[in-house]
Amino acid sequence: MNETMPKKLATRCIHAGELADAHGSPHTPIYNTTTFAFPSTAAILDVVEGRTEGSLYTRYGLNPSIKALEAKLASLEGAEAALVFASGMAAESALFLTHGREGIVCIGDAYGGTLELIGQQLPQLGIPTHLMLGNELDRLDALLAGGARLVFFETPSNPTLELFDIAAIAEQAHAHGALLAVDNTFASPVNQQPLALGADLVVHSATKYLGGHSDITAGALMGSKELLDAVWPWRKNLGQTPAPETAALLARSLRTLVVRVHHQNASALAIARAMEAHPRVARVLYPGLESFPGHALAKQQMAGFGGMLTIEIDGGGEAAAAAVDRFKLFAIAASLGGVESLATQPVTTTHHGLTPEERSRRGISDGMVRLSVGLEDSQDLIDDLTQALR
Ligand SMILES: *Cc1c(COP(=O)(O)O)cnc(C)c1O
Repeated sequence: MNETMPKKLATRCIHAGELADAHGSPHTPIYNTTTFAFPSTAAILDVVEGRTEGSLYTRYGLNPSIKALEAKLASLEGAEAALVFASGMAAESALFLTHGREGIVCIGDAYGGTLELIGQQLPQLGIPTHLMLGNELDRLDALLAGGARLVFFETPSNPTLELFDIAAIAEQAHAHGALLAVDNTFASPVNQQPLALGADLVVHSATKYLGGHSDITAGALMGSKELLDAVWPWRKNLGQTPAPETAALLARSLRTLVVRVHHQNASALAIARAMEAHPRVARVLYPGLESFPGHALAKQQMAGFGGMLTIEIDGGGEAAAAAVDRFKLFAIAASLGGVESLATQPVTTTHHGLTPEERSRRGISDGMVRLSVGLEDSQDLIDDLTQALR
């Protein structure tokens, strides 16, 4: 991107990181290549020994489709550097294995795979990990004083849309010499910029809003060059790099990120208001509603309130399942962030593995339905919910 070019987010989505080619393609071509040829032994040694940058081998991430995508991803989060991964969990595992080895504190509800990795698998490698709920933040100082060096959370979190104060927790972590990593999957860089608020690292399941069309599995990690340089050999040798086709498809999707997310923000707010007024809905959890407990914090640290909301249907789990089964537009599916609207009952999917007591401790009820609002007409979506709640 030309240095004199305006640098608002929508502009960066389109132009950041794009490589010019000899034929005048307006975007980076797909370098569907595993390896790259050099004119001489001296030239290949220059790249292998790090004296010059260049394409070398795709699993290393040294492929123009991947490097161009990473420059765009870094730009979107206001980061010095980015690494792209074959999935969100690949990004998280590389992050934890690089920067979490001395101890990880995970705050609040997180993605199921994240909770399993932190709670059950990393301890098998001897990594000390701690899971705490949002109402147990008073434990954080003691855990940091005890040696934990990486704090991690999602905000908004799944499925209750609980928010955490990025700036305040970053300050607390830094006071103990620890790092803060934020999973920004639900908000997307359009609605929230964790690095600008003081976080050290941002992780994404690019499978969700960044990909945006339910057709790519990918992940991303953004932060300073120093922190990401340490992650790079883990990605390389764990073999977590995505294929160039996936990288190019993700770059294609990012060019429309701002328009997609703005539309999803507006539709989700309209749906949240309609559901709040519906007699069969006991509660609507959406950061953009004045009634939402985290609304003040949302206004402070988010530029938009996102496309995810959770409604609690009167009558419990069976009534909620009956309503979900009547949906005609919302598909019954896990995942989120795509162009098509999806609905899932946390008790049947994302939080199915927890005991009823554990779910209730986390404020997750059987009547909850999590909605991922797509790009359909918002009135059509409201009509679908209304007919299902009849
Ligand atoms: C989906 C998801 C992940 C895992 O991402 P994958 O791309 O499925 O590996 C991590 N965090 C959040 C918040 C997610 O929604």
